[in-house]
Amino acid sequence: MRLSEPTLHELILRLPIPLALLSQEGGVEALNERFTRIYDPASLESGELRRIIGNPDESWHRVRLARREGGELDAQAQATRIQNSIMLVVDEFPVSVSRNELDQLRDRIVELERLSSIDRLTGAWNRVHFDRVIGSELSRSSRFRQPVSLILLDIDHFKSINDTFGHQAGDSVLCELVPIIKAHIRSAEFLFRWGGEEFVVLASSTGYRGATVLAEALRSKVEQHSFATVGSVTISLGVSEHFAAESAETWFGRVDEALYAAKNGGRNRVSVDQRGSSDLWIAEKKGAAVVGLIWLEAYECGEPTIDREHRELFELGNALIAASIAKDANRDSIKSALDQLLAHVVQHFADEEALLAQHGYEHLASHKQAHARVLARAGELKASAETGKATLGDIVNFLANDVVARHLFLADRDFYPLFKAATPGPR
Ligand code: GH3
Ligand code: MG
Ligand code: MG
Repeated sequence: MRLSEPTLHELILRLPIPLALLSQEGGVEALNERFTRIYDPASLESGELRRIIGNPDESWHRVRLARREGGELDAQAQATRIQNSIMLVVDEFPVSVSRNELDQLRDRIVELERLSSIDRLTGAWNRVHFDRVIGSELSRSSRFRQPVSLILLDIDHFKSINDTFGHQAGDSVLCELVPIIKAHIRSAEFLFRWGGEEFVVLASSTGYRGATVLAEALRSKVEQHSFATVGSVTISLGVSEHFAAESAETWFGRVDEALYAAKNGGRNRVSVDQRGSSDLWIAEKKGAAVVGLIWLEAYECGEPTIDREHRELFELGNALIAASIAKDANRDSIKSALDQLLAHVVQHFADEEALLAQHGYEHLASHKQAHARVLARAGELKASAETGKATLGDIVNFLANDVVARHLFLADRDFYPLFKAATPGPR
């Protein structure tokens, strides 16, 4: 039987001790029957229980809880983190369940959790586990401004391996491949079996450049390995780095496209989508912060006016950052740099909309709305700069998230094929 999240939760709720499952934010997800028979659910709102839930330290805390029948009961409570939930165990005081029983229970839950996260055949993490970790990985990345990359890899001509040597030999190739990859990724990096002969490496604190080096090393290690029964096997790999404000789906879409390009390019190779937050974020050197947006060839769409204006946008953005961190920075110098940037943005949006209309771009209306949103955010930033309230962080966020990530990477990306088809430029 394959264990999935619901069965684990159901099992937990069937236990014969009062139990509550809460979300990480403290919202009640489920209470078991034993809990509702003895306690008033409103008792979960008490300050002392909130504190225990907010700090799931797996130790017992004495509490007083409201009974369902009225009155209060002395009890003890323990909060434990389980997957994406917090499990709160309540017990009457003195203990009616032995410590030993509770320890066994916890071991069993940890084991179930592990089993429900692992691919049975290869021992790699499974897709369920990917869904579990991806959210916290992305919020960690944006909070600490640490890049994060995906490597998607797929065995070349796996079907013919199966056809020639049999399905079992195919299975052994999958099992042999996993330790080769695990040996070359850091322990902080995850390897997931995405399905069939496709695997994903989630590389924390790694931009697309580092991920490309890693992907190339994996490709070469697999190529050099001699697999039992079948001999040589090759893999194709795609690489993409996350950028600010991008959904996990779009990010995955880009790595999928990169893998597709590697297959199309002849297999046994790495293809990289050269875009990512690491090019936007602040590189801090000792003492002075070096801040800047770096223009890359990959940002070019192939339409000369749009490309020139995008490049100017980066230059004016950098001038604004420079004005904000200059020793003699003042409200006027920042305001003047911001005014220049905004004037350019307004002109650029108008030019871009005219060119897109000329080319009959089908999503022009929603693209105009995206432009209007960037301008609205710009207006807010301008107002706070005028009162001296805009911080360097506000300015960098506006440039990195609104101007570059949302406008250039997300919105504009959609029309790039329009011009790429006409003028084959560098990808
Ligand atoms: P490409 O180089 O384009 O990736 O070609 P391919 O033959 O590897 O790709 P395709 O998607 O055509 O075939 C994948 C095959 O993988 C088909 C399927 O039967 C096989 N497969 C999927 N999961 C397993 C598995 O768990 N074990 C084995 N032995 N085969 C599997
Ligand atoms: Mg394949
Ligand atoms: Mg495949």
